[in-house]
Amino acid sequence: MSVLEVKELSKKYDNLEVIKNISFNVNEGETLVILGPSGSGKSTLLRCINNLEKITSGNITINGKEMIKEYKNSIPIYNDKKILNKINMDTGMVFQDFNLFPHLTVKENITESLIYVLKMDKKSAEDRACELLQKMGLINKKDSYPCDLSGGQKQRIAIIRALAINPKILCMDEPTSSLDPELVGEVLEVIKKLAKEKVTMIIVTHEIKFAEEVADKVIFMDKGIIIEEGNSNLIKKPKEKRTKEFLKRFLNV
Ligand code: ADP
Ligand code: MG
Repeated sequence: MSVLEVKELSKKYDNLEVIKNISFNVNEGETLVILGPSGSGKSTLLRCINNLEKITSGNITINGKEMIKEYKNSIPIYNDKKILNKINMDTGMVFQDFNLFPHLTVKENITESLIYVLKMDKKSAEDRACELLQKMGLINKKDSYPCDLSGGQKQRIAIIRALAINPKILCMDEPTSSLDPELVGEVLEVIKKLAKEKVTMIIVTHEIKFAEEVADKVIFMDKGIIIEEGNSNLIKKPKEKRTKEFLKRFLNV
């Protein structure tokens, strides 16, 4: 079953079209890795899926619910607030720069949306946070503030925070790009664990070896279009010239 359907999606910033009529699906339990050079529209795509950016045309369906209910004079009309709220709860996002709340403890960072968005009582929210912290080996940090954590720990907390709401699909935008090289591994390990547990994910990354290990599907984007898509073999055996040129840089290092 498709958890996510992106259909003929386009996105313009004023007159600059950065996503050009792209379509793809993500099935339940799949990990999709999106590769592509800087400026190809990867972050914009994830932001559209997370409803952080308004789309220009096409549609996005998450867990059977369409973002756009109709078109009037070629203008997309977004679905009712109630449906959009459900869609928002079904999508989780992990950002390159963690985006933790600096004034809240680790535990509070995780329980905040459980209490205020999912309307969980405080005790159940704290139990859920502690269960995930335990599982990810971070329970000893529950009362720390983000400023006292390493980058790797911050990103692992951000992943736990996104997971805590039980999203149908978890998006990660270059989750290790802000980290010192020695901290990248611990974050990739957590994501690999989630892939093994069949959490449905979209990951934008430049960690090619990791991509090959976790991806069920790979999309290579350039200049707002999908140049090539396939399974993880695409990384070893790209067909298109642009994909080959892009990957060559990583295989030579
Ligand atoms: P990627 O994540 O692949 O590096 P982005 O989605 O960040 O690509 O950007 C795609 C294009 O859209 C770039 O040309 C970028 O300059 C442009 N862009 C991104 N965000 C905005 C914005 N808020 N306003 C105008 N242009 C933007
Ligand atoms: Mg980006």
